[in-house]
Amino acid sequence: MMLMMIENIRINLAIISTIFEKMGSHIYFACKDTCMNILRFGTAGTPISSTSRDSRSGVERVHELGLNCMEVEFVRGVKMGVETAHKLGQAARDNDVALSVHAPYYINLNSREMEKVDASRKRIMDSARIGALFGARGVVFHPAFYHDDPSDTVYGIVKTHLLELAAQLEEEGINVLLRPETTGKGSQFGTLIELLEMSAELDGVIPCYDFSHMHAREAALNSYEEFCGILDKVEDYLGREGLKNMHIHVSGIEYGPKGEKKHLVLEESDMEYHGLVRAWKEYTIRGTVICESPNLEGDALLLQDAYRGL
Ligand SMILES: [Zn+2]
Repeated sequence: MMLMMIENIRINLAIISTIFEKMGSHIYFACKDTCMNILRFGTAGTPISSTSRDSRSGVERVHELGLNCMEVEFVRGVKMGVETAHKLGQAARDNDVALSVHAPYYINLNSREMEKVDASRKRIMDSARIGALFGARGVVFHPAFYHDDPSDTVYGIVKTHLLELAAQLEEEGINVLLRPETTGKGSQFGTLIELLEMSAELDGVIPCYDFSHMHAREAALNSYEEFCGILDKVEDYLGREGLKNMHIHVSGIEYGPKGEKKHLVLEESDMEYHGLVRAWKEYTIRGTVICESPNLEGDALLLQDAYRGL
């Protein structure tokens, strides 16, 4: 009898969790930002099919498309005003779209020039400050170049900066995670292991897992088994909790001996995205998947459909 009851509870939980997967977006806001009960899919910036290019229109279009997250791209600078940020946050809540923010591209915490390091720190902080106003959970950035320094030297330098930035965010009451991204070129600091180690050491720092960069950088890591290997590493360093708070980038990618060259449409690339979504499903990861393909929403929907079809 007892066993039957337990089995019934187990089945009911499975049904509820399937409903969460299929349509459970409102649950996210019900449990605020402390937990992510679903895996969300969305675009890097405003979808191409949005009638207007601003982020608020982007959020509305993301929702219309049946997607539920978006990354606000501060590619060339943090220019959004406070009022715009508040309105964007309201639109995100109204449309149940989870937001993240990508800091400007030019960031190098290992620059030889101190003013470039200061400018890099300011770009991360400004992105986080304005991102907090629209409810972003994380700020994504490419942390540094090695130049001629060994990995552990750059690691130490980046760690010092991130430690200080995380402390400053906390001091300002800004609840936005620092998300250094796994990078696509051998010249850039940001292998999976470097960033997982960093995250295990520092509070407030969790990687942005760019699976296409990892693939391009290694000219490998493009099969179901290898994707599972990546998720095993996440669990090794960050525990189950790490798998429940993932922020992911994906696109098709062209690459050479030095790594990433440019982003491609998924179906026009060698990216084994079927194996990728299967690994996500298998490990029941949670969080946000941002599609960075040239056909943003087309591939975001392709990934979401592939994932939900499993
Ligand atoms: Zn990326």
